[in-house]
Amino acid sequence: MENFAENLDRIRARIAAAAERAGRDPARVTLIAVTKNVDIATVQQAVAAGVTDIGENRVQEARAKFPMLPAGVRRHMIGHLQTNKVKQCLELFDVIHSLDRLPLAEAISRRAQALGKVVPVLVQVNVAGEETKHGLAPGEVLDFVRTVAGLPGLAVKGLMTIAPLVDDPEEARPVFRELRRLADAVADAGIPGVSMEWLSMGMSNDFEVAVEEGSTMVRIGTSLFGPRRA
Ligand SMILES: *Cc1c(COP(=O)(O)O)cnc(C)c1O
Repeated sequence: MENFAENLDRIRARIAAAAERAGRDPARVTLIAVTKNVDIATVQQAVAAGVTDIGENRVQEARAKFPMLPAGVRRHMIGHLQTNKVKQCLELFDVIHSLDRLPLAEAISRRAQALGKVVPVLVQVNVAGEETKHGLAPGEVLDFVRTVAGLPGLAVKGLMTIAPLVDDPEEARPVFRELRRLADAVADAGIPGVSMEWLSMGMSNDFEVAVEEGSTMVRIGTSLFGPRRA
């Protein structure tokens, strides 16, 4: 993509402006370039242009592409994760954004211990209660975090959500605000080994609102790479 570097600059400027509107330090917002359905040559160009973090939603696709990426790029698993893919997932990815059920946490714990790793995870929350989306109900989050905090091999670092797709990003604001409120509530509970330093929220359509509401990780695909051809 010839104008990738330009797109990247523009997105970064919009993130910075949103952070400044909210009195936040733009350096506290990580841009995760979502590379699903993006060919490896383009991903390599993105990394050469300065992308430090990439997100994929399928283990299979990551397995094909990641061996061709330079070391040092942080790899984020952002899609629904099947328990039988956990082993491969931990071999490929640095961070998991989609922890949404106890058996998955247990599988991550087992496999991480076998690899001698502690895997940073975010708990996925279905804030808007959409039937088509994965994630815990907001009311389940605190108890869930308490339970998984006791498992070795993973470290809860924050929360993640996917907001409903709406025409006006302002409509997504209450969803982001609620995730932030939940993270604050979990932080206030002072659960040993748990931090709420990361809030993974905001995509191409709504990342500025998400940053205004406290996002520390925006996951952006279409705005960087153009529409997906699936
Ligand atoms: C595809 C995807 C994104 C990126 O979406 P865009 O609208 O293309 O920016 C972000 N998060 C998740 C979980 C995704 O699956």
